[in-house]
Amino acid sequence: MKLLNIIVPCFNEEENIIDFYNELLNNERYFSDNNFTIEISFIDDGSTDGTLAEIKKLAVKDKRVSYLSFSRNFGKEAAIYAGLNKANGDYLVFMDADLQDPPSLLPEMLDCIKNGYDSVATRRVSRKGEPLIRSFFARRFYKLMKRISQAEIVDGARDYRLITRQVADAILAMPEYNRFTKGIFGWVGYKTKWLEFENVKRRKGETKWSFWKLFSYSLEGITAFSTAPLRMASILGLIFCMIAFIFILIIIIRALIFGDPTSGWPSLVCIILLVSGVQLFCIGIIGEYLAKTYMEVKKRPIYLIKDEV
Ligand code: UDP
Ligand code: MG
Repeated sequence: MKLLNIIVPCFNEEENIIDFYNELLNNERYFSDNNFTIEISFIDDGSTDGTLAEIKKLAVKDKRVSYLSFSRNFGKEAAIYAGLNKANGDYLVFMDADLQDPPSLLPEMLDCIKNGYDSVATRRVSRKGEPLIRSFFARRFYKLMKRISQAEIVDGARDYRLITRQVADAILAMPEYNRFTKGIFGWVGYKTKWLEFENVKRRKGETKWSFWKLFSYSLEGITAFSTAPLRMASILGLIFCMIAFIFILIIIIRALIFGDPTSGWPSLVCIILLVSGVQLFCIGIIGEYLAKTYMEVKKRPIYLIKDEV
């Protein structure tokens, strides 16, 4: 028998827990036919509704259900890390509680693992049902990441992943505080099979991601997996030096030919404003990385557990 850990981060998902559980167990036949025992770990990420109560009900009914409850909301990345930390199975899979990661895909994923893959990842090929501007910026983000980062970060990739023990250990060896899971999965490598599916709408409740939350998450991803913005700051500096040099030459030549009338302060003001703007921008970029370094050196725990079964 092989043990499969199913890790489910939940934040205010009381309406979805039971549905998720039932739909997952539709695969029960497959699990027993293929010698998989399962363990379902719900990670309650500081929910303020009845999520934990729902989970507890399930845990009483079914011994394969366990849970972890955080002291407050630490974010999905922390929940995934906590699940990973506690799991001791041969295989691990991360799934959303809102049924946007279809449990019906699990048998196919497990088949891939049996065929020698280390990691089975999923991506949605459409973004149907998502606000247009969100899709637009998401696409731009993935294009940019492809250019500036070595880690493979795929457009439409979900956190719905099945991994082997070996990959799990590799990820656990990255105890960084700023966790951009999509990047971490890509960074560790291993033989990965990508499965595609049409976007599924969230079953009940609302998404926890506002546009601005997603935007700052994307900045998180960029700073966590690329230092290109820092290089861009140096290159900008270089370009400005060159422009300044050309200007100096032009001004000297002009003064030699036409004399030196005391005009030109408007252009001076414009130049000062522009250059100081660029300087602040570049300091800001450095600040972003410094802030990340600051949080990293503090070595605060990634999550705190309040209750556990
Ligand atoms: N989630 C979480 N902590 C958070 C936000 C979300 O554990 O701070 C969980 C949430 O309960 C769900 C999954 O992460 O199971 C995905 O969240 P959501 O559906 O809101 O994101 P989306 O699918 O819209 O990207
Ligand atoms: Mg969702």
